[in-house]
Amino acid sequence: MQHFPIFVALAGRRVVLSGGGDAALAKLRLLMKTEAHLTVFAAEPAPEIVDWAQAGRLRLVRRAMAPGDALCAALFYAADEDEGEDARTSAIARADGALVNIVDNLGDSQFITPAIVDRDPVTVAIGTEGAAPVLARAIKADLEARLPQALGPLARIGKAFRRMAEALPMGRARRDFWADYYFDAGPRAHAEDGAEGAQRALDGLLERHLAAEARPGHVAFVGSGPGDPELLTLKARRALDTADVVIHDRLVTPEILELARREALIIDAGKEGFGMHTPQGDINDTIVEHVRAGAQVVRLKSGDPTVFGRLDEEIETVAEAGLSWSVVPGITAASASVAAIGQSLTRRGRNASVRFLTGHDVAGFADHDWAALARPGEVAAIYMGKRAARFLQGRLMMHGAAPATAVTVIENASRPDQRIVATSLADLSADLSDAEMSGPALMLLGLAPRAAEAIVPDLADTLSQQEAL
Ligand code: SAH
Repeated sequence: MQHFPIFVALAGRRVVLSGGGDAALAKLRLLMKTEAHLTVFAAEPAPEIVDWAQAGRLRLVRRAMAPGDALCAALFYAADEDEGEDARTSAIARADGALVNIVDNLGDSQFITPAIVDRDPVTVAIGTEGAAPVLARAIKADLEARLPQALGPLARIGKAFRRMAEALPMGRARRDFWADYYFDAGPRAHAEDGAEGAQRALDGLLERHLAAEARPGHVAFVGSGPGDPELLTLKARRALDTADVVIHDRLVTPEILELARREALIIDAGKEGFGMHTPQGDINDTIVEHVRAGAQVVRLKSGDPTVFGRLDEEIETVAEAGLSWSVVPGITAASASVAAIGQSLTRRGRNASVRFLTGHDVAGFADHDWAALARPGEVAAIYMGKRAARFLQGRLMMHGAAPATAVTVIENASRPDQRIVATSLADLSADLSDAEMSGPALMLLGLAPRAAEAIVPDLADTLSQQEAL
């Protein structure tokens, strides 16, 4: 780092600039944002400089600089845009004891002016030591877009409120409060009602955060649905909005995690296939630890948490620890999968019951009532069945299931990469290995996709048809 960034207190200090053209104007516009006493030396000043002098914003001396003109100055800008003149004036200023900047001459300057994002009193200074002005401009543009316009007034109002905010315990509680104010409630209230609105927002926000602090820890076991964020329940959305901690399974999609409160701690408790990445005991401990610490925890499970989700083990741990918990149901993979093929899980005259099976359990491939499943018309949603396909096929046929029984496998149901493989019991394992599925897949035994022409058109088509009518 060749240049050390500092913010110089300029209120009441002398700043001298030599030059009257464009470069001088640009620097003066910046400098006039400060409370420095500005003196400009220019034999031929631009009209703006004359106006500013008349308005009392700077002192204008209509001649070239001479020795002693920069005495007691904190900073000096050589802005004549003339190499010889800049060298002369900067030598004078240096002799007078000022810190010197020569416009567009990094090598001979003692300090440089950074690119500035101005949300006074919040100021972001960006410097690249002259290496990449383009980069500095890009960063500046990025920050300009990202920081709320009202950040300046918000910061002034917020500063006056700091004492009040001390009612909140130090650390996370207070940080959350300020994040809420600066990036959510504050800008919104300021846009609607200006400074008064922001002030009111602070009062309301403090009350809310104090109430939240008084609230004991809680864990909600929340179903995230099959992957499409639009298939989240409103309750799940709200839980994610207010979560302090989100502990999620591997199958929960990034799009859904995106919806968690920005400040939330996100913990991946992903488990895979037969083996487990995070032992269940560790997950239980993590939940208990955070709820005990007073956090609002969301234990996010794919689909519905009550379907093959090891929910009971987690509830029992939490209940034994005497902690508060609730369950928010979600759309299970079976529902999303039948929706994808336009079928019902039950149908009058075909099947009055439906089974949810797992292809494997802790002991390996899971055993089931094969004889019952092999009966014509039976419908079963088979979870975690990919690797057990050959086993399932064998058991069912052994118990008399018709080889032509329809089986449909839906991979990534409800997601953009959804795939449907329609096959029969006889061809199941061969067709599955051909399909090389890597995403989560659900098998529907006894159901084939409804014939394409009969499938209800999707919403967009329906709307355009309605318009056509
Ligand atoms: N609680 C989840 C199931 C967890 S078990 C639920 O209610 O959906 C994990 C299995 O669910 C996967 O092996 C797969 O069989 C199925 N599954 C989960 N999401 C799926 C999806 N989007 N598409 C197809 N199957 C899915």
